[in-house]
Amino acid sequence: SAQGALSPAELRALSSRFFEAVADSVLGIDGIGRIIRLNKQTEKMFGYGCDELLNQPLDVLIPERLRAPHAERLREYFSNPKVRPMNSGFIALGLRKDGSEFAIDVALTPLIMDSGMFVACTIRDIASQQYLEESLRRRMNGLEQADRNKDLFLMMLIHELRSPLAAIAYSAELLRQPDLPHNVRTEAAKIVLEETNLVQCLLNDLRELPRVKRGELSVTKTTIDLVESARLAVAINRPLIERCGHTLETVLPAPPQYAEGDATRMVQVMTNLLTNAAKYTPDGGHIRLCIEADGKDLLIRVQDNGMGIPADGLTRIFEMFSRLDGAKQKYADGMGIGLAFVRRLMEAQGGSVTAFSAGDGKGSEFVVRLPRAQLAQPDTAALAVAEEPRTAA
Ligand code: ADP
Repeated sequence: SAQGALSPAELRALSSRFFEAVADSVLGIDGIGRIIRLNKQTEKMFGYGCDELLNQPLDVLIPERLRAPHAERLREYFSNPKVRPMNSGFIALGLRKDGSEFAIDVALTPLIMDSGMFVACTIRDIASQQYLEESLRRRMNGLEQADRNKDLFLMMLIHELRSPLAAIAYSAELLRQPDLPHNVRTEAAKIVLEETNLVQCLLNDLRELPRVKRGELSVTKTTIDLVESARLAVAINRPLIERCGHTLETVLPAPPQYAEGDATRMVQVMTNLLTNAAKYTPDGGHIRLCIEADGKDLLIRVQDNGMGIPADGLTRIFEMFSRLDGAKQKYADGMGIGLAFVRRLMEAQGGSVTAFSAGDGKGSEFVVRLPRAQLAQPDTAALAVAEEPRTAA
């Protein structure tokens, strides 16, 4: 057939067209580093016109500052020539005629001829490949971050489910007693319902996994009665506080005290702070929960007379997984999640949380700030006539 029978001239023409058809730049270098052959692709890649590069030193394609080390490497290569394929991790910089630099991968093949040695270089512009790799890397990092966020969320969920479940178990235990006073029975049943509701809310978060993967907390801001949230948080913590023999003093203004926030989240915030106050105070301590107005904000203060926090720990404790040495000695099983979660929850609601302590053994105070609701305050005077301090347990 016609295809099998190429004349030597046709063969030469074909091989030179092959040479031009290669998508990479291909060039031949002689023993003194001169370009003795090149394809059009090389001129295009480096921005040169027709035949401008022929017989030029290879150096013109190399950024000036790299020429000396490159010449050294080329000498070494000629004394110990071997095939170096693409993708062998050798990424260099090419210099275009216009002075711009770009990343290239260079493959080398020594060609031993009668007149001496030549090197065939294949040069690939890897800018687009690098871009691809970079975007892949970014995507990978994003996925890893999402995975970490998901793990973190699950740990927080486990952490947050403990308190309401403990309160439910406690109330259920109470309800088993046959001769329970009617009002205690009613209250215990109410707690079971409210806490179950809270557990439900926490589990609903699971439906928002995409948001969780972005590291966002679901917060639904409405007008809420902070006193109501405080009451629920107290109910959740009462069993623990009683078990530790602490007294709990609540100083709550007459409800409602409207704030802009997420009711369930505020219960979580106060529950975390009350649980910590109970945990980090030696048995028989005193815990105080107080809500008061401060300009446009409502403040929640949770105070204890427990182990306190050294000055250098006051901000650190809000970092994820951060626990102070004293706390580790007392409660080995803490996760250091609660306060980090509290801080994120408060920030997501446009509020804040700050810790105060006079130091080791001097007790602690956590102050949570949340903006008051913008609606006309129905009863500002109620703040003045705060409820009488109540002491429980
Ligand atoms: P955990 O209680 O699991 O350690 P938290 O994030 O709730 O995690 O608390 C972080 C750290 O802050 C605690 O380990 C403890 O060192 C310190 N801390 C929190 N609350 C108090 C408190 N009321 N009194 C003293 N230290 C506290």
